Amino acid sequence: MSQKIVADIVVVGGGVAGLWLTARLHQAGYTTLLIENNTLGGGQTVKSQGIIHGGTKYALNGVLTGASEAISGMPKRWRDCLEGNGELDLTGAKVLSAHHYLWSPGDLAGNLMSFFASKAIRARVKQVKKEQLPQALQNEHFKGKAYQLNELVFDIPSVVARLAALSENRILQASSFSLVSATENKVIIRADDFEIETQRMVLSAGEGNESLIQSCNLSQPVMQRRPLHMVMVKSPNIKPLYAHCLGAGVKPRVTITTHYHQDGTPVWYVGGDLAEASGVARSPDEQIAFAKKELAKVIPWIDLTDAQWATLRVNRAEPAQNNLMRPDTAFMTQHNAITIGWPTKLALAPDFADQFITYLKKEGIQPLYNTPLPGIPRPFVATTPWDEVFV
Ligand code: FAD
Repeated sequence: MSQKIVADIVVVGGGVAGLWLTARLHQAGYTTLLIENNTLGGGQTVKSQGIIHGGTKYALNGVLTGASEAISGMPKRWRDCLEGNGELDLTGAKVLSAHHYLWSPGDLAGNLMSFFASKAIRARVKQVKKEQLPQALQNEHFKGKAYQLNELVFDIPSVVARLAALSENRILQASSFSLVSATENKVIIRADDFEIETQRMVLSAGEGNESLIQSCNLSQPVMQRRPLHMVMVKSPNIKPLYAHCLGAGVKPRVTITTHYHQDGTPVWYVGGDLAEASGVARSPDEQIAFAKKELAKVIPWIDLTDAQWATLRVNRAEPAQNNLMRPDTAFMTQHNAITIGWPTKLALAPDFADQFITYLKKEGIQPLYNTPLPGIPRPFVATTPWDEVFV
């Protein structure tokens, strides 16, 4: 016989969006239940580069678009949380770098002059003197220019663990999901052996939203996938680097973040243009060969001869948009008591939670239930891709 759980709000999907939202709702006095069918953060979240963008990357053509403006407040919100002064207490989560950087291996290409011509952008970017360069760029052969951005980089598994703790682990691991009924004010679902009743349900399952939308007999919103082919390099010779390297165009040629394998060895996680369309078309061996050449061009003084290399194919999940454009803000839509959304960026998880809390207020949804949870199976925090692939 199935066990019954009642909660004010049920959130399906334990990536950064679901975890952040659940923690905010719990803090606001709602009884929550987060349902995860695998590991916490194991979708895109733990595979992300952990950069809390302030929008600079999206403004490289000198235009402050909706994307760059909406996101500009995020680094401060995350920093406040880290220091214990924000909307959630993230003290204890680990920061890998207090700043992200932008660097050009040679002279800045002419088409970036417009980027630095904007006053609003100049306020977010600071040129770095030689002695303050990130460790990996401190070399006599470094000829380019580097800029410090008002952005930080988190160790994401530590953020995931902290967010899970903030919702007092009201998190159920269940592999099956089916909708029993949905009306304007009540949703009943079945997840493994549990029948769960709630005032409102949020689908925040990243790529998993596509099949959940179908399970709820809905046809909207439509999801798009943006495939990426990332590269991982593990070597004791690697020095810390958190930076976009500029090419001739307005997109970073490579974006490098540094993480640590469980044995303590540093790992460069490499994305940027290299991981997008042409990178996706390459086989893993071709992608590694390409990455070796790119890194040898832009940081030739780091010896990667004995490094271990691997690639990771992963999709970003977003609402469908024309021309696979990046959406401007977190996306959320409602069908009666069911909300469906994607934060579109890790950095925008606070915006995702704001949007749902604004909706609850508008609908006048108050905490109703205060029922303790029965004993439930709980999911683990996901393992990082570098711990999975490298020995
Ligand atoms: P996910 O992290 O995908 O989480 C969804 C969760 O739902 C998963 O845990 C999954 O197991 C679970 N799930 C799926 N189906 C079901 C189901 N049926 N029932 C229950 N649970 C289910 N953004 C940034 O801001 N900065 C970056 O540096 C950055 N780098 C990135 C690098 C890469 C390679 C990628 C792929 C993305 C990056 N992003 C970055 C984007 C960011 O990672 C995502 O926007 C964000 O993590 C999405 O969070 P989410 O919670 O919506 O989804």
